[in-house]
Amino acid sequence: MLSPMVERLRPSPILAMAEQTRQAVQAGHSVIDLTLGEPDFPTPEHICVAAIEAIRAGHTHYTAVNGTVALREAIQRKFERDNNLRYGLDEINVGCGAKQIIYQAFAATLRPGDEVAVPIPYWSSYADMIGMFGGVVRPVPTSAENGFLAKPADLRRALNDKTRWVLFNSPSNPCGCAYSEAQLLELAEAVWSHPNQGIWVMADDIYEHILYDGRRHATIAQVEPRLRDRTLSVNGVSKAYAMTGWRVGYSGGPRELASAMTKIQMQINSHTSAISQAAAVAALDGPQAIVAERRELFQARRDRLIQRLESDTPLEVATPAGAFYLFPSCEPLLGRHTPDGQCLESDMDAAQYLLQAGVAMVPGSGFGAPGYLRMSYAASTEQLDAAVDRLAQAIQVLT
Ligand code: PLP
Repeated sequence: MLSPMVERLRPSPILAMAEQTRQAVQAGHSVIDLTLGEPDFPTPEHICVAAIEAIRAGHTHYTAVNGTVALREAIQRKFERDNNLRYGLDEINVGCGAKQIIYQAFAATLRPGDEVAVPIPYWSSYADMIGMFGGVVRPVPTSAENGFLAKPADLRRALNDKTRWVLFNSPSNPCGCAYSEAQLLELAEAVWSHPNQGIWVMADDIYEHILYDGRRHATIAQVEPRLRDRTLSVNGVSKAYAMTGWRVGYSGGPRELASAMTKIQMQINSHTSAISQAAAVAALDGPQAIVAERRELFQARRDRLIQRLESDTPLEVATPAGAFYLFPSCEPLLGRHTPDGQCLESDMDAAQYLLQAGVAMVPGSGFGAPGYLRMSYAASTEQLDAAVDRLAQAIQVLT
């Protein structure tokens, strides 16, 4: 018999769609995969070289559970340089991706019935992880008109004496919205002034460097220093440096929480690979120009994809501030019939139909936002152009 914790886990909609895509490709269909949540660029050469040098230098043994001193010092420098935040070495954790960091933070703090306030739409893993510890997602409503950004009044309404965390993910997966410093300050005030002073804030800043049109990234602990000791600032090298497979994520936060997270990690995987940690030092301390170059490429793809979708399809797309996803409403497709006579009744139906037409995307339901599709533009311009051609054709034949 499996544990109730496992019974509570739903299959990930992102992985389910990726699996269907894989099966379709295996069956010989041509599918352009826009489900992916990782940069399509290679890891920069100097980072790979640092990893090879680490192997040659014999850095192939166990490290400290919360990461090598060299990496935690590089993380200290990163937080100071980019976010004007100062953390002690014992306030920093390193895990197997930001995912492990987030998991451990919830594992260390949630009791059954505790609530986590999360603006909708949200990365589906949050809800699953929260549920594993008996926690409950308290959705903070947002609207497409407001760019999916939470308003302070809506956040305030979502907080109560059971709230343990408020979670901000800026720029966001799946919709790419990002909070300005002023907006974050207002949201921080809603948390700070709430009678429940046990509410902590998680800032998932994994897409920090993929932020467009000259915007400056803002994070809660920086804009509201009074919340610094109640905030876990989560980040990682996966998205900024195209290092998803190296599995390095990190956080800065209050010492007591950091040490509880370390205790948990000690019994899971001890630490992430020593070689990956050496590579992450090179990423954080090395030349940063490539991050800006890639950001510009993503922005050019974003603009081209939006322009092509708007000219060739009825999909309406808001311009996201960051990350590498578009999140169009599939409303123009709903209620219409496919050439086989099937009525498209939901985002799931729409995603299935468009997969058959050769473009894989994730239905918004997986992110708590039915009626939308998540389209990743971490793909080449040629692939994106071909995807729009296929979408246009498939939508045109709907009646
Ligand atoms: N947070 C968000 C919003 C994400 O989209 C992802 C990955 O897709 C992660 C965290 C985890 O990233 P990693 O575990 O690769 O550091």
